[in-house]
Amino acid sequence: MKSLNTTDTIKLFKNVVDNLLARWPLRRISGYCDTCNKNKVEVGLQFYIRARREACLKCRAAEKLALK
Ligand SMILES: [Zn+2]
Repeated sequence: MKSLNTTDTIKLFKNVVDNLLARWPLRRISGYCDTCNKNKVEVGLQFYIRARREACLKCRAAEKLALK
């Protein structure tokens, strides 16, 4: 497991999808998914808007938490 700076990762990600994810509880659910090779929030979001058909359980959980 690499020791990435979590704060920097979140900042970078927020820059990309700032408006869309402004309301999401990023601190609770953000993180890199080794199964999907993407940020869990991003995967969950894509899954939610049907941009992707498959997401692992962790990403589906992230989607549920984010949309609570
Ligand atoms: Zn995943």
